Formats: sequence, structure tokens, C-alpha cells
Amino acid sequence: MANNEFGTVFFDEITTATFDGNAWSETQFAPSDKLPLHPATHVLHYSSTCFEGMKAFRTDDGKINIFRLDDHIKRMQNSAKALYLPVPKTEQLKAMIVDLLDKYREQVPVFPSVAYIRPTLIGTDTSIGRAASPTETALLYVLISPVGDYFTVGAKMRVLLNTTDLRCSPHMGAVKSGGNYASALGLVMHAKEKYDAQQVIFAPNGDVQETAAANCLLMNDKEVITKGLTPEFLAGMTRDSILQLAKHLGYQVSERNISADELVEWTKTGEIVLSGTAAVIAPVTEVVYQDEIYPVLASSDATNAMKLRKALTDIQCGKAEDIFGWVTTI
Ligand SMILES: *Cc1c(COP(=O)(O)O)cnc(C)c1O
Repeated sequence: MANNEFGTVFFDEITTATFDGNAWSETQFAPSDKLPLHPATHVLHYSSTCFEGMKAFRTDDGKINIFRLDDHIKRMQNSAKALYLPVPKTEQLKAMIVDLLDKYREQVPVFPSVAYIRPTLIGTDTSIGRAASPTETALLYVLISPVGDYFTVGAKMRVLLNTTDLRCSPHMGAVKSGGNYASALGLVMHAKEKYDAQQVIFAPNGDVQETAAANCLLMNDKEVITKGLTPEFLAGMTRDSILQLAKHLGYQVSERNISADELVEWTKTGEIVLSGTAAVIAPVTEVVYQDEIYPVLASSDATNAMKLRKALTDIQCGKAEDIFGWVTTI
């Protein structure tokens, strides 16, 4: 079921709804392998699009747990607003996700494989003249991909600490939109080609923010530190979940600015981790800064990262009590 490459296998159908300029249509099921679009479709030219990424887990008693469904829907609504896209209705989008999962529930794989859920919203006005105006019509769809475990223990994770460039335009950082990924891609490729680095931590003027697709946290046996939320970077659900869990487990949790120098110092004593829905928590093993390589000494065990990761995935797949009310069970 789960394929080697993340996100290349899909349920046979998607759920869709269209906005005609006034109202949302009823939800429909449609084949997942094609989307007929006019060549002038607004999204293809002016990137009127946002998406979400969340996971559903099969529990031991055969139920399906969706993780932080309501929060992901809220974040998508915020992204849509920022992009002047029609805002999906909470109950409809929820049903588009739940009904699709329910119809294909036997295809939700056994943990550590999961169903990765990708709600997507695109502007569909057929006009290449609307460069400076919002789309009036839109298509919302939910695509689901059964995926394997994205995480490999002991994998090398070299990151370039970039203190010069921005991942994306600062006012767009909290919006989950393809344009931000396009903006970061050249810089990520440069880091790969020049330093053999898998990721870039963007730290403009020394202010550590995040990578192209994951948040960044420092941790040790006592504390967890990450930058407080700003409009410049994505408010990750995994980040938020880790912070809540860490507090619960007795860590001192600080949301404050982290300087590039502090991050480099941290390689000597603590763990540096990247967080996101796909990989959950991935320990950084090396930081490249000003052409020097700094090994993260605690990354071989990454004790705290692994402890928090397990606490999180235990809740997600129903092995631990859902004390924070994060899980929707269907
Ligand atoms: C999606 C995303 C994350 C991680 O967010 P989660 O909700 O934890 O999956 C972090 N940074 C960026 C830029 C993202 O797009």
C-alpha cells in the first residue's frame, strides 16, 4: 500500500466542492487522477492556492484517528483569507475529509504507515487579466495518500544555516501556499549543490525561523526552545503539539528568539530538531555555518526528540490517552 516515495499513491477518489462566486456547491466524489483545467485558470498564473497537510491513523481497534482536524481547517481558512480566496466552510471541509476517509477506510494503512490528507484550494477564474485581482471562483478538493514511515533512525540531516536570505516574503510566512515553496526552492537547491545539505534553516540577520517546510526547535533534558509565532513563518501543528507535550512532561518550554550563534553553540550540548506533519520530528545531525561544519553531538541518540516523538505518535494512533483533545475518531 504505502509507496517508497512519499505522496505518489492515492485513494481512487477525491472529494470536491466549487465556489461559483456566490456559494459553495454540494460536495462530490470524483476520480483522483485528473483535474480538467482551462489553460487560463487563475491559480496556474497567479498562484491563488493554499493547502493543508494532516494525518489519519489506524488504531488497534480498527477506528481511524484524524489528528488536529479542526486546527488544520482553521489554518486553511486563514490561508484562504490571506490569499483572498473563497474561504471553505468548516462543516463542509470537515465532511469532505471524514467522508472520503470513511469510504476508503480499509485503505488507511497500519501504523507507522498513515493516510496523509491534503486539502487543496485553487482559484479557478479563467482569466489571465486578473493578475492584480482575486479569483472569484475556486475549487476545493481533498486528496488522500497512504504513506509509509517518512522517518529513518540515524539518518544524516545536514542543514545549512542561512543568515542572508528569506524563505519567502515576510508577510506570507504563515500562509501555507505553494508560492512560498517555490520561493525557497532555489536556495534549498543551492545548499544541496554547494554543501550537500538536505535543508536550509532560514535565519535572516541571525534570527532563526524555520526551514523550507519544517519548524525548528532546540531541546535538551530540561528545556525546549523555539521562536515565538510571527507572521514570518508557519505556525506548525507539530511544533504546537510538541510544545504542549513538552510542558506536560515537565520540560521548561520557551518561545523566544534564537540567534544563529546560539544555534551553533547548541550543537555542542543539545539537540536540534525539525518538526512537521510528514516526518513528525527529525533530528539535525550537522549544521553548516559560514563554511564550517558543526556536528550536533547529541544527535546520535537524540533522546529527547525520540521521547517527544513517541509521546506524540502514541496519542495519534490511540495508544495513549488523548489528553489534549487533538484526535477526531471515526
Ligand atoms: C506545513 C509546514 C510546516 C509544518 O507544519 P505542521 O503543521 O507541523 O505540518 C512548517 N513550515 C512550513 C513552511 C510548512 O509549510
